[in-house]
Amino acid sequence: NAEYLERLLSSLDGQKYGAYKKLRNTYQFNQYRLAVDHVQVDPYAPPSKMRIIIKRTTSGIPDELLDSKDKITAVSDFLTRAFYSNIKTFNKNSKGKNIFIDRCGQEILERTSVMINRDTIELRFEVGLPAAGRKIRGKSASQLLTQMLPKIVRESLFYSRLDQGLLKEHVSLVLDQVHIRKELKQRKLTAFVANDAILPRESGVSDRPLKSAVRFISPVNFEVHLTLPSGRTVSGMGIPEGITLIVGGGYHGKSTLLQALERGVYNHIPGDGREMVLTQDDAVKIRAEDGRNIEKVNISPFINNLPGKKDTHRFSTENASGSTSQSANVIEAIEAGSSLLLIDEDTSATNFMIRDIRMQKLISSDKEPITPFTHKVKALYEELNTSTILIVGGSGDYFEAADQIFMMDEYRLKDVTDAAKSITQTEGFQRDIISDLSFGPQSSRIPLKSSFSKTGKDSRFKTKGMHTILYGREAIDLSGLEQLVDSSQTSSISAMIDYLQREVLDNTMTLQEAVHQVYRHIEENGLDAVSPYSGHPGNLALPRKQELFAALNRYRGLKIK
Ligand code: ADP
Ligand code: MG
Repeated sequence: NAEYLERLLSSLDGQKYGAYKKLRNTYQFNQYRLAVDHVQVDPYAPPSKMRIIIKRTTSGIPDELLDSKDKITAVSDFLTRAFYSNIKTFNKNSKGKNIFIDRCGQEILERTSVMINRDTIELRFEVGLPAAGRKIRGKSASQLLTQMLPKIVRESLFYSRLDQGLLKEHVSLVLDQVHIRKELKQRKLTAFVANDAILPRESGVSDRPLKSAVRFISPVNFEVHLTLPSGRTVSGMGIPEGITLIVGGGYHGKSTLLQALERGVYNHIPGDGREMVLTQDDAVKIRAEDGRNIEKVNISPFINNLPGKKDTHRFSTENASGSTSQSANVIEAIEAGSSLLLIDEDTSATNFMIRDIRMQKLISSDKEPITPFTHKVKALYEELNTSTILIVGGSGDYFEAADQIFMMDEYRLKDVTDAAKSITQTEGFQRDIISDLSFGPQSSRIPLKSSFSKTGKDSRFKTKGMHTILYGREAIDLSGLEQLVDSSQTSSISAMIDYLQREVLDNTMTLQEAVHQVYRHIEENGLDAVSPYSGHPGNLALPRKQELFAALNRYRGLKIK
């Protein structure tokens, strides 16, 4: 129990750091248990892993805040944030921070930092056990675990001490967001952006709202009104399925709008400014990503007649160009089952996006390997039901294909569909677009188990920051995945790939099926079921299937049957 822990720690005072390993145990405190799962070997090793386990009845969070998956995600997120901020409050005066929990950003993600089970709430955190040189500082460890920690727990896990109004708002906001996303499907919309939303961020390195922002207002004829489960009503722009073009001068806020839509696949916290910006949750940002690896992707809808007669039905390269990488990104997004592509000219290959009439005259189609996206965007929607929202400020080539055209004008969105369409009818401005092209064949690929054949130490998966997974010494570069938002998602992807290669791949299953299988396993057994660690995987956050799929595609060792 707690007194035993106190005695143990004072008896360890001054001993060699390694003696801390005697701490591995479970201690009964008055209202909760403290489990010490893993003890660091020295003061510079990753901190020790611990859990607090408290009965739901003791915590007192009412059942009606915990009776669905979405509510549990919201409450877990809230408790993680509460614990995080209470660490800061109570740890203010101690030198160096000693207690850590997963840090949440602006999104509300399913995490393993706080697990809410049928009868218990389990919180996973880490502690840097105090040392003087390489000796144990038992007194200060005791102070940390038997005095400071109980205070943090009391303020973070007990309903009576939490800000109940904020907690309820957190939960009801998530339910509203989930509802709006369902409503999108019903109304055949790709996205919703509420009036008054704050889209721009404080700076390039801060994801917080820009306070001085011009708030979003919907063009009148695209305004929809929604009644939410909380009883609130909200008005804003509903972007219909099909092809949506955003035009406008540089620096008028086009990319900012698209970035908000990219993030709209996630739920955001109250006060974020984008909490009422919701996008179909399988939307994928498509960008050029030259240098990436491509393994047997059928990019023939976009690329044919490559020099040297290179086959584009099963196209492989270790060093893709701008246009081939962007083509592969589109094809793979469709393969992963996306219903909405988001494209920004700023991160696109020009020759993939457009080829104007003069260039079409100069270079005949059989000499030009690329069929630009202008020629396929319509078929993509009509045949495969995949919508596109794209920004093109420098060319009118998408006017014909677009179903709706918006102009960003000093951060205000205007409907300019009619004006743009009438330009396409004007003598001298017509272009011979080949709009009856069919999209072409789709990719469906079977990965080989032998893609993952490393042994020993080299077979381990690790992460480095948000954008790198290490398979042994080999790096998988995820910096092209703009919708990855949290390094704990990267940790999950790393664990998921490990699980997938061990338990799922069988040389007959497609990549898409394999990814589904991993998610089914998680649905049935929880997110930490994919973790190779036993006891304490407290730093996982659920990524989308799209990001797992994309990560696999970026592994240079991937072999397709
Ligand atoms: P574009 O893509 O049209 O060139 P950006 O979206 O990159 O423009 O925006 C240009 C700048 O304007 C950015 O610094 C961005 O933060 C800022 N900005 C965007 N939208 C708003 C807004 N609604 N209110 C205030 N500033 C904004
Ligand atoms: Mg831009």
